[in-house]
Amino acid sequence: MSATRKMMAQNVPNNRVITTFPQAYDVQATPYQKSNFHPKVKSACSENRTGCVGLKICKAVLVGDVAVGKTCLVNRFCHDVFDKDYKATIGVDFEVEKFSILSTPFTLQIWDTAGQERFKSIASSYYRGAHVVIVVFDLSDEKSISSISRWMADATAAADEPVKFVVGTKKDLVSNASCKAAEDRAKEIASSLGAEYWSVSAKTGENVQSFSFRCVSLTFDAAVLREVENTGISQQKIGTIKVERNRADLYESRKKRLKINNCCKA
Ligand code: GDP
Ligand code: MG
Repeated sequence: MSATRKMMAQNVPNNRVITTFPQAYDVQATPYQKSNFHPKVKSACSENRTGCVGLKICKAVLVGDVAVGKTCLVNRFCHDVFDKDYKATIGVDFEVEKFSILSTPFTLQIWDTAGQERFKSIASSYYRGAHVVIVVFDLSDEKSISSISRWMADATAAADEPVKFVVGTKKDLVSNASCKAAEDRAKEIASSLGAEYWSVSAKTGENVQSFSFRCVSLTFDAAVLREVENTGISQQKIGTIKVERNRADLYESRKKRLKINNCCKA
């Protein structure tokens, strides 16, 4: 298994290889204050103890008003092109990107809407099981900033503690002063939503790779940590607080209690 995993990790292009933890766009505008992969994640990766991560796929969803630049952002990131017609979307569509993170294979499914946002609502199947929610707005369009909170609420209603981002696009269209004004507003909203803030341009490519590496790394760190801690729980000795939270172990300890009771009766 570990040999297969190593081979999968070696099979990704250089621009999908992450070896160091990417930093936030603005350390003041993120709830994710870690500056490195979790120590447990690092040792799990170096010892090939990453459980299903590497075989499992994580899901990222993009939401935001129509025409803010979601499809262009996905096309720049996945294909390094700036062309909104690059990928004709029919129904809900997604891209699959493979990474190697700390020599562990990691796959992200990136869901881009196919125009449902025109109706200001998106089918719940789109959001289901999302590990990452990215709310996109247009730095040159004030109206799109006021929709951020609603999109975040819709997308996270059914998700289980996803990693959250607010991303301002079309940075190339705005002056430094108006970019700063829009950023200040959006950062405040992002902070109230517990999300990390980024400004990017799909047209010039500015910050697109840095953002996506950050997004993938935070998702990977959380996924591996969940995996390691779950495995850790089942390996712990009965009697610790962690074990009490684990159903299988509760069952085990009940069986043990029964045994003790029976033994005392005997
Ligand atoms: P979506 O509806 O959110 O998927 O938006 P699209 O990706 O289709 O983009 C809507 C429009 O904005 C298109 O005309 C794009 O060419 C334009 N656009 C998207 N991103 C950028 C950007 O970074 N800079 C500029 N100048 N235009 C952009
Ligand atoms: Mg689109």
